[in-house]
Amino acid sequence: MQSVPLQTSHFLGQQRLVRTASLLRSSGGPGQSAGGHLAGVGINAAATAGRARVSMSSAVEKVDVAIIGGGPGGLATAKGITRACPELKVRVFERAKLRPRGASVFVMPNGMHALEALDPETHARVLAHHSPAGATVTRNMAGEVIGEAGGDSVAAPFASYGPCAYLLWASLQKALADSLPEGVLETEVRLGDSPPRDEGDHVRLQIVSAGRRPDGAAAKEIEARVVVGADGNQSQLRQHILGDGPSSSMGVGLFRALLPRPEKWIAPNSATIWAGPKQAFRTAVFQGDVATWTGIVPWPAEEEHLLQGRAYIAANDAGEGARFSPKERCLRAFEHWPDAVRGIIAATDADSILVHGQNYRDPDRCTVWGRGRATLVGDAAHLGTPLLGQGTSQALEDALELSRCIHAHGATSSALRAYERARQPLAQPIQAISVDLFKRFQAGESFPPDNEARLSIEHGFVARSFRPLPVA
Ligand SMILES: Cc1cc2nc3c(=O)[nH]c(=O)nc-3n(C[C@H](O)[C@H](O)[C@H](O)COP(=O)(O)OP(=O)(O)OC[C@H]3O[C@@H](n4cnc5c(N)ncnc54)[C@H](O)[C@@H]3O)c2cc1C
Repeated sequence: MQSVPLQTSHFLGQQRLVRTASLLRSSGGPGQSAGGHLAGVGINAAATAGRARVSMSSAVEKVDVAIIGGGPGGLATAKGITRACPELKVRVFERAKLRPRGASVFVMPNGMHALEALDPETHARVLAHHSPAGATVTRNMAGEVIGEAGGDSVAAPFASYGPCAYLLWASLQKALADSLPEGVLETEVRLGDSPPRDEGDHVRLQIVSAGRRPDGAAAKEIEARVVVGADGNQSQLRQHILGDGPSSSMGVGLFRALLPRPEKWIAPNSATIWAGPKQAFRTAVFQGDVATWTGIVPWPAEEEHLLQGRAYIAANDAGEGARFSPKERCLRAFEHWPDAVRGIIAATDADSILVHGQNYRDPDRCTVWGRGRATLVGDAAHLGTPLLGQGTSQALEDALELSRCIHAHGATSSALRAYERARQPLAQPIQAISVDLFKRFQAGESFPPDNEARLSIEHGFVARSFRPLPVA
């Protein structure tokens, strides 16, 4: 078998030099740790259901910090603030029910250092889920092996800066959610459609039910001293406070899923990319027997409306119902692909498959992250392309800095502006390089341009380390 770090592949419809290990950089190689089936990565249903069961009432609830969105950025921000300022009342409002979703994610050394500075215990929990990425085999449409790349090629160049974590997205979300004090996280609720109102010393928000709530109530009012938009790549809070319209599409849709490893199709500890014209399908195995897959397909502009406005669409996500079935759509997209690919999709529970568009914002249009008593973190603030594998790490850096600023200035607009001043000069170059890489690729340049100037900047930000968060 040939070992080829670079190979010619069809990706997005054009023949390009593609570094195969970078294809779908945010998901990848096999895991080696022991473990069970999906239950092993399941969100503790009893705990999260208990947390979620608060009664929706017309009474106004007063909080110090309201965080919209319980992805890595929102949960880490809540962890940092509750740790540094235990006297503050912090609430996270998450639209979806917490359950195993997504595929796999890299937290690069800078992200892990930020998490360690934020809370050493949570850092240790996340690190415990790390599965070293092994070799990835690339197959063509006939199933023939056409390449093999070291699975750790994403993180290996940065190994000297400290450990990275390669883990299931669901394990990361669970580790962060489990680290929060009781009552902080509320699920199946979302920001309402009416814009938050700045009422002098607080912001008034409407939070509405996003699922089938036992109490049947529809909305409640929150008075928050500050509000943080951690609501991801289609941030609604961003539109409420900045109103700068939808993000730009990379022209692809990604399906992500996890399932108990189907023995017939996926070998233990394996990682495979099937590379075909215009699209690709990648599998990896974690914790012994949890398989993840990611399918990347062209997404025509005329169907963009199916993805815009619903960041991560799953069949039964938060009870809102998708406008189409991700599983059916995915089966159709891979209809003429090898049996293994179709077999894996068919074996996956429809509820475990989510689809999203891959979008970005031009950094020169992201110079403002907040107004008044509102700010943004993570993808909501500085959505780049996934080509540097920095999305989650940047969200963790945001969480640390915002917690530090709220510790220093309280839950005030001054804290939010101090956070934005500190983080923008660091996050924007990363967003800019990731967008530039994509545009060069689109324009026909080889992919990715690993020139020295870019690499030295990349090494600069991966090498970052952080002072521990002051704690009360
Ligand atoms: C379900 C899911 C699966 C993912 N899987 C992967 C993966 O496998 N690999 C990978 O590299 N990246 C994945 N990502 C993306 C990755 O988490 C982010 O790119 C990165 O970590 C930055 O995180 P974030 O917290 O800023 O945004 P996100 O991770 O996108 O989190 C945003 C959160 O806000 C919630 N939300 C959105 N709108 C509202 C609203 N109006 N009210 C309340 N809550 C709202 C969303 O449900 C979500 O939980 C996934 C994201 C999600 C939401």
